[in-house]
Amino acid sequence: MPSASGPAHACLAGLRVVLDPGHSPERPGASGRAPDFPREHELNELQADWVARRLAAFGATVEIPGGDDLARIGRCANGADCFVSLHHNAFDGRDHHTFVCVASRSASTGSVELAAAIAARVGAALKLPLRKDAGCPPGVVHQSLAVLRAAELTDCPACVLVESYFVDAYGSLRECEARSLRAADAIAEAVIGWLCQGLTVLDRT
Ligand SMILES: [Zn+2]
Repeated sequence: MPSASGPAHACLAGLRVVLDPGHSPERPGASGRAPDFPREHELNELQADWVARRLAAFGATVEIPGGDDLARIGRCANGADCFVSLHHNAFDGRDHHTFVCVASRSASTGSVELAAAIAARVGAALKLPLRKDAGCPPGVVHQSLAVLRAAELTDCPACVLVESYFVDAYGSLRECEARSLRAADAIAEAVIGWLCQGLTVLDRT
């Protein structure tokens, strides 16, 4: 884990973060109900751009692999300090909870810690409860997802997949984008805090 020494704005210097905006233009993911609803992939991209900018402002090198090959995307975690896949959910027209997935069985302690930190911040930012699964910290869910399985096979110490909220609960693109950006800010703060070993990051850059 990196040291938290040095100025806060450079605390991620020398660290590499891989962000994966889930899905692709060809396979866009979840659908909302707003007439102008963007596809899930577009909201995931919006979050990735926002998180990347905030992490870069703290000195991190950010990589966004892109594409649909989940095993290849997961392998990009090799050599990285953390891997964060960004997603949104849809189900029955209601917003239910925030949760962050880690790989079933193979998830490292670092993955579970980072997932718990992200879930707590996103839930607070969006005023959503955290999903509760037996044996897991609040908001942390074990799921056998291809991208996480591949990422956990690398030397990356923390690999997570964020499901910020349920997009089909909201009636306009504007509302979805605002929520996604609020969640992205919370994700960035959690990642920065975790990487800087508990350094409290309160200033907005
Ligand atoms: Zn998704």
